[in-house]
Amino acid sequence: MMVVLLGPPGVGKGTQGAILADDLGWHRLATGDVLRAARREGTQLGREAQRYMDRGDLVPDEIIVGMVRERLESLGADTGVILDGFPRTVPQAEALEEVLGELGAEVDAVLELTAPDDVLVKRISGRRSCAECGRLYNTYFDPPEVDGQCDDCGTSLTHRDDDDAETVAHRLEVYRAQTEPLVEFYRETDAELIRVDGDRSMPDVQAAIRSALEERLGVAGDEEQ
Ligand code: AMP
Repeated sequence: MMVVLLGPPGVGKGTQGAILADDLGWHRLATGDVLRAARREGTQLGREAQRYMDRGDLVPDEIIVGMVRERLESLGADTGVILDGFPRTVPQAEALEEVLGELGAEVDAVLELTAPDDVLVKRISGRRSCAECGRLYNTYFDPPEVDGQCDDCGTSLTHRDDDDAETVAHRLEVYRAQTEPLVEFYRETDAELIRVDGDRSMPDVQAAIRSALEERLGVAGDEEQ
């Protein structure tokens, strides 16, 4: 089973995708996370990606497609996969169809999360994370008890370089121009198109995702059985 998570930066793809993958026992492949790890490790991929990411631009398709192909090939055919942040352009979606065709798989559903731009900007520019334990905060919606410090482990919170206001505005433009057309692309395929309003509390969005996946794909997690 393969589900593509689609949505603008800040809509909650990472959070929702991680909970979903955990509950269903699926693998979550988040290209942004892979690229950030490559940057931290200073690999060639990380160095190549850096300048695009810092500007809020997309990393070239051929770099991303090669990276995703390698990972999908190494996952067993029985593994459920949530693709988070890929594909992001029509050529990437076409390349994904090709790779999946070779593996005898297909995209079963495209889950599109939506929210108004003003909400997205606050969600992203307020985003902070703990480098030590990974806990996420938002200075507007879910601030830590002590400013700039993780409630759980006391470590200083960090802000992603590409989360500053100017880069965020550009990332939203890039999403509208290059990624949103994927909804039309997938309308022409057999994938189920599921649209979920992401401008609600985190548990409400997750519940809506779960009921849609159960209804449309017959997928249910452990805690519901
Ligand atoms: P994300 O964590 O998904 O918001 O991604 C952060 C940044 O990584 C994006 O702004 C892009 O520069 C890059 N990136 C992640 N996934 C892709 C992709 N599928 N295609 C091109 N660039 C990507």
